[in-house]
Amino acid sequence: MFYPPVNLFINGEWREGSEGIREDVINPATGKVIGSFAHASIADLDLALKAANAGFQAWQALSAFERSKIMRRAANLLRERAEDIATLLTLEEGKPLAEARMEVNGGADLIDWFAEEARRTYGRIIPSRSPNVTQHAIREAVGPAIGFTPWNFPVSQILRKLAPALAAGCSLIIKGPEETPGSPAAMFKCFEDAGVPAGTLALVFGIPAQISEHCIPNPIIKKVSFTGSVPVGKHLAGLAGQHMKPATMELGGHAPVVICDDADLESACAALIAFKFRNAGQVCISPTRFLVQNGVYDRFVEMFSKAAASLKVGDGSEDGTQVGPMINERRLQAVERLVQDAIERGARVETGGSRIDRPGFYFAPTVLSGMTIDMQIMNEEPFGPVALFMRFSQLKDAIAEAKRLPYGLASYAWTRDSSAIHALSRSIEAGMLTINHLGLALPETPYGGIKESGHGSEGGTEALEGYLNTKFISCSYP
Ligand code: NAD
Repeated sequence: MFYPPVNLFINGEWREGSEGIREDVINPATGKVIGSFAHASIADLDLALKAANAGFQAWQALSAFERSKIMRRAANLLRERAEDIATLLTLEEGKPLAEARMEVNGGADLIDWFAEEARRTYGRIIPSRSPNVTQHAIREAVGPAIGFTPWNFPVSQILRKLAPALAAGCSLIIKGPEETPGSPAAMFKCFEDAGVPAGTLALVFGIPAQISEHCIPNPIIKKVSFTGSVPVGKHLAGLAGQHMKPATMELGGHAPVVICDDADLESACAALIAFKFRNAGQVCISPTRFLVQNGVYDRFVEMFSKAAASLKVGDGSEDGTQVGPMINERRLQAVERLVQDAIERGARVETGGSRIDRPGFYFAPTVLSGMTIDMQIMNEEPFGPVALFMRFSQLKDAIAEAKRLPYGLASYAWTRDSSAIHALSRSIEAGMLTINHLGLALPETPYGGIKESGHGSEGGTEALEGYLNTKFISCSYP
């Protein structure tokens, strides 16, 4: 499969970086170089910033109705090109083709939903205390924004920023993922072809720290959004704070899954197996700490491990592959180190537990049981194909363990007991909780974390809020 050279998209043009620097793209399924992408220099970034300012004016000059139509055209183009874009995505990221297709088509649905909302950024009239005074609160786009997005969902992580930003009337510079630049570039082409004005959108790659440190302080940028790890998120939130810029932070998680004695184990197992090993576990909302009540612990661990052991691991481009490789050697080593530490501290390997001896970056789907909280992996996000099992006897103990970590992104529970559902709903410290099914990450529902998992939302009307200012206007008519 041909992997086209990836360039920067600045001011409506696809261009090489001004310093001519390019970097290789690696296929994680083979470890081989498949292509390259251009690096943005400071001069390129300055051009993108200037264009974002002009692009903001051009986008603002269109009515919300027109902007919505352009966005829907982009969504349709994305659907038409989904097969090609998904193929690129799998080549550079490793996930099975079926997952890549879902990501691209789901991305089109995300654009459609925000395109609709673009027409509904209503303000309100507030009754005044005096008959000749009117009070309005209106919503205005914050202005040019910048987003930093990771490699694990190269298309949808960008769209979670781009769709609400455009819907609100903002222009946006994206610093895309250097590991997986091809599918984002192909997705941007859909917006270009749909008629988004030059400068309104930019896609750049390069040295991440250089890009953030140059662009965030620039007065043109009015909003920052980042998806990635907690340490980088804290750094960028600090940088945004120094310059008093609002920031949305989608950071890591370490999601608890509470399985009570009365749970429907078959349904829980079927749902969680697919979700745990999706994208080789490299998902911020991946279910990770499985807290299982004593009465069903042994049965559930056995059922889950058997299902995990039967998953077909391989190159995502091949038919039938259910779990692909990890993104790179660095992430593979990080997971190896965490699993090794757990084993040394007494974890039992139910299945997997090591890398797979073949070219590429493969780690076997792994189930560890008998987890204790002194193990590093129970404290640090594994971000890999590893499920960790721990017993509990009373629901309050499971809730305490669920809340123990500074993360607060996704959480999961299976129980038929309404008082347990009530207790979980009230006590779990997380931005998202789904009970007895997998119900997260729809375009229309809030998506985000609390505590060190970040702040702000990338779903639902809450996502639009992040790109809007409120202006209050009080007028007395003489
Ligand atoms: P990382 O923190 O090194 O990189 C994550 C992203 O941040 C990358 O796209 C990178 O280009 C960017 N980045 C890094 N330093 C930056 C800087 N100074 N300025 C701007 N951007 C910068 O993490 P990684 O090792 O590639 O990925 C693994 C970790 O990332 C996981 O542990 C997980 O917590 C986190 N992650 C979270 C999500 C999510 O959806 N919340 C997605 C992917 C990765």
